[in-house]
Amino acid sequence: MSPKHAIIGIKKNIALVAHDNKKKELLEWARYNLNTLGHHHLFGTGTTGRMLENELGLPITQFKSGPIGGDQQIGAKIAEGDIDFLIFFWDPLEPQPHDPDIKALLRLAVLYNIPTASNRATADFIISSALMNQEYQNPTPDLERYIQSR
Ligand code: PGA
Repeated sequence: MSPKHAIIGIKKNIALVAHDNKKKELLEWARYNLNTLGHHHLFGTGTTGRMLENELGLPITQFKSGPIGGDQQIGAKIAEGDIDFLIFFWDPLEPQPHDPDIKALLRLAVLYNIPTASNRATADFIISSALMNQEYQNPTPDLERYIQSR
């Protein structure tokens, strides 16, 4: 595990993503948690990020829109240790053109032990955790050792 992955700092790098049918729900959630979110670094896929920035005035680093590579960009940032939190309200009722990208993003989030919320209740529990206000030693398995053992 690289040193970058070892610790989730007090100020967290949070990625926010919502599929179209879930954008309203994410917007409501973000509005409710505006104060808390303002203490962290925020990232988002293109349309989600733009919506949150326009509606709530939150500064958000925006990647490409999900279907044209945004999910992959967030996955790459997770692998590089630059994103340590994922709030991803994905739509369980509709197939997406970029389903393989979504699967890849969710896989990397699990691999790197990234706290991930796929729905509002989980996001509520995560954001109200006492761990949000402190540093967290990430007990990710040693991926270097895994590679060397192959
Ligand atoms: P969007 O992408 O924020 O650009 O709509 C979200 C997604 O589909 O992953």
